[in-house]
Amino acid sequence: MDSSRIFLAVAQPSGFEQEYIQKAIDANWITSGGPNVDSFEIRLQKYLSEETFATALNSGTSAIHLALILLGVKKDDEVICQTMTFSASANPILYQGAIPIFVDSELETWNICPENLEIAIRDRIKKGRKPKAIIAVHLYGTPYKVDQIHAIAAKYEIPIIEDSAEALGSYYKGRKCGTFGTFGILSFNGNKIITTSSGGALISKSKEIKEKAIFYATQSKDEAVHYQHSEIGYNYRMSNICAGVGIGQMKILEENIQRKLENHHFYKDLFKAIDFVELFEVKEENYFSNYWLNTILIKQDRDNMKNRETLRLALEAENIESRPLWKPMHLQPIFEKYPYYGNKVAEELFEKGLCLPSGVNLTNKEKNRIKGVINTFFK
Ligand SMILES: *Cc1c(COP(=O)(O)O)cnc(C)c1O
Repeated sequence: MDSSRIFLAVAQPSGFEQEYIQKAIDANWITSGGPNVDSFEIRLQKYLSEETFATALNSGTSAIHLALILLGVKKDDEVICQTMTFSASANPILYQGAIPIFVDSELETWNICPENLEIAIRDRIKKGRKPKAIIAVHLYGTPYKVDQIHAIAAKYEIPIIEDSAEALGSYYKGRKCGTFGTFGILSFNGNKIITTSSGGALISKSKEIKEKAIFYATQSKDEAVHYQHSEIGYNYRMSNICAGVGIGQMKILEENIQRKLENHHFYKDLFKAIDFVELFEVKEENYFSNYWLNTILIKQDRDNMKNRETLRLALEAENIESRPLWKPMHLQPIFEKYPYYGNKVAEELFEKGLCLPSGVNLTNKEKNRIKGVINTFFK
């Protein structure tokens, strides 16, 4: 039997990438920025909404960092961040010397909890500093409670940075994720729904802001023949080669979303008969997830034998990758000294949750291997 490794999520080439890479090489546009970058940005804008402006960058992390800079976040400012997320959501707060304030998740979408968000904002204001921004994340492709979160942000006039790194193709009430915040960010890292090998994008609402983002991303060069700088610059622009990969990948975005949905249906069938496991999904019709990763909660630990760690090991023994959910930021050694507002929802999710292989290239044979291990485990 084939026992090659089954990964959580890896990129799949569309076959169109080479054409655009070749174009860049033939035109000797082998640098950051260029025609492929412009074209990739236009394709992203068309896909998300004609009212957005996309700036292609070298990573999603750079996009979050630039969003903070463009919002004027400076040393000792406070920035609220969803605690359950990948560290890249929160690290750029520290790059600015600012202070992360972590907020718990709620159980419906696993994303930032409206009640705790408001408690945190009021408490920070009472302590003397109004948060400068809120970083809300669409985790695993599931939109956060957009209406409620944005209503709170509007009430206190705090801009939202919408971390849509995992949610390209997801939408809420028919509107695409990445277009709700003052800034949206996307990632095209190799494990995301489409890839540029490494890359990201900053989604904004005006041409002027996009131009300012490009200014910072290309070393903040003032207008002068010699190199003149009056602000800190960054080397964050996407390369023209990577953008060629991105254009090729855009052609299979819809197909990838379809495949992710098929994976989700596979897991739905599989876990239907297993009482101890709950496959995560939001059943409300306003939410459409790209199911970047399928995730489960093991509701009850039977005799300390059937928990997320023993299941992970059983899968690993068959060379199948799975992983606990993101460990909450306020439990991370680098972030544990910062304030946290919540009721330990994210902690509990982390204890019981597991991410399962969800690659767009998952074959039926591989699905059968996964099914075999899981059925045997829960027998
Ligand atoms: C991947 C990811 C990022 C960072 O994107 P990179 O392109 O890897 O820098 C940020 N936030 C979340 C939630 C992510 O999953």
